[in-house]
Amino acid sequence: MTTNRTFTMIKPDAVADGNSGAILKIIEEAGFRIVALKKTLLTKERAGEFYAVHAERPFYNDLCNYMSSGPIYAAILEKENAVADFRTLIGATNPAQAAEGTIRKLFAKSIEANAVHGSDSDENAALEGSFYFSKTEQF
Ligand code: GDP
Ligand code: MG
Repeated sequence: MTTNRTFTMIKPDAVADGNSGAILKIIEEAGFRIVALKKTLLTKERAGEFYAVHAERPFYNDLCNYMSSGPIYAAILEKENAVADFRTLIGATNPAQAAEGTIRKLFAKSIEANAVHGSDSDENAALEGSFYFSKTEQF
């Protein structure tokens, strides 16, 4: 286990439903330190840039519309084993398959509107964090 970072977004459905505070509380209580945090609104183009890895997937256009449909919170988080532990905390992509007590089980509405993002590797965590935050915004 190493102390490292992951990146998350609280997605538009969860922000619109007023669940941002509850989700951040779960994240902090699970031992993640918030290194950077901002509320922002993605354009469809910028959402497409963030999810460029999924450009060939059939749900890409819907995903870009959804992720630009309302404000999100973006955050960099720090903890030992951050990437894997955060994926465990959020649960499966499809909330129907997410384990009890996970953030997606608690708050996701559908496989698309699934409340939160979590990076899938240390490399992507660094890239995704720098998509939103400069070095001088990370403490
Ligand atoms: P994640 O790493 O668990 O977020 O899942 P992926 O990286 O595979 O997908 C990125 C995001 O695309 C997911 O979090 C969902 O918001 C959305 N998504 C994934 N699969 C589907 C799907 O089959 N249909 C739709 N509409 N959206 C999906
Ligand atoms: Mg992913």
